[in-house]
Amino acid sequence: MSVVVVRGAVAVVEGSGRVREGDVTIVDGVVVESADTTDAEIIDATGCVVTPGLVNAHHHLLQTAFRTLPGTRGIPMREWLPAMAAAYAEAGVDPGLTGLAARAGLAEALLCGVTTVADHHLTWPADADTVAMARAAADAATDLGARLVFVRGAARDDPQTAAASAEAIVSALVPDRAGGVSADGMLQVAVGPAGVHSDPRETFELLGEVAQRHGLRRRTQANEVVDVEIAVSRYGKRPLDLLEEWGWLAPDVTLAHLCAVTDDEIARVAAAGVSATHAPGCDVPMGWGVAPVRRLLDAGVAVGLGTSGGGSNDAGHLLADARLAMQVSALVGPQVPASDVLTMATSGSADGLGRPELGRLTPGSAGDLCLWDVSGIADAGVADPVAGLLWAAPGRRPRTVLVAGRVVVGAGRLVRVDEHEVVARLFERVKR
Ligand SMILES: [Zn+2]
Repeated sequence: MSVVVVRGAVAVVEGSGRVREGDVTIVDGVVVESADTTDAEIIDATGCVVTPGLVNAHHHLLQTAFRTLPGTRGIPMREWLPAMAAAYAEAGVDPGLTGLAARAGLAEALLCGVTTVADHHLTWPADADTVAMARAAADAATDLGARLVFVRGAARDDPQTAAASAEAIVSALVPDRAGGVSADGMLQVAVGPAGVHSDPRETFELLGEVAQRHGLRRRTQANEVVDVEIAVSRYGKRPLDLLEEWGWLAPDVTLAHLCAVTDDEIARVAAAGVSATHAPGCDVPMGWGVAPVRRLLDAGVAVGLGTSGGGSNDAGHLLADARLAMQVSALVGPQVPASDVLTMATSGSADGLGRPELGRLTPGSAGDLCLWDVSGIADAGVADPVAGLLWAAPGRRPRTVLVAGRVVVGAGRLVRVDEHEVVARLFERVKR
């Protein structure tokens, strides 16, 4: 039995806005109320706020290899998509690149306090070994000690081929696991087309069938401005009308972005039990506007937080995007307070993944947590250390990160792999 006690924190954020004092005790990777701590490993949290590990509900890890690419900034999405596609084609997306980009993206995640990443992988060259690509991302997560949700996406892929690949990835990565989650909870497989702007009804239906067979979560992107434009011009309907017709307004579905969404559509999303992922670090620089998070929350929609990928948001720093979410929320309604945004970045994201054990520090939750040092100059004069996590110190990184009760970041450094080696190998592959 392994017992870990995190002791002496300034505050412990348990989840859903609840903050307490005292220890966090983890036995065999799971948070418990109390335990015999005679032989426990004690982690000193003096001067720190402890939060659940953050959950990035929407990332495209491959894009980590294509950050700040010339010709991909300050342009509309209809130009951005082919510019990114040309870069992918030039680099040659294969299992090697998929793995190296995932290693860099997941290393960045852990160093920023993100313990679970949902990687919506959308780039599948015609002759690709798609199982090997998914396995490369999964292996990267295993090496680093991060939790990964690998989303077998599609973007103009042949529908039958995409569905067969999703089926093969499930069989290879999470065989015989109802819900698509590995026995140790470290790996999950989900499916999802890029959106109605890129994929036809058949892709949604066939990937939906794979999801139904295995109990997988379904994830897609909706109501970026261009998504609405294309849906209206191609089908004479708005994206949510199409998703409803195609069987994709359901409680196992999470919609990322949701920028251009009406009050009526918010009510439909809520009534269908669909969850949402807010991604302001992508939406704002892409010029898509600000999703009405306050109104989604007030309607009862479970809202998570994601960074989206390096092609639009050059950082995978979810806490920085939590800060941005607070700042821009005031442009579209009452400001969303820090505690609500922290809930989005933890349990809100986890709920959309069907993972109620993640993003919380209540008894029974996974032992994924971060120690954020609030004793330094950035927090001097801060009245509320939990709100200060988000408001003060943009770019803040945790001192220590645990996943399933094991230390994966210590003294602000990766424990299991050499950060510089991760960087060097990715640059070697993309030659920049
Ligand atoms: Zn996205």
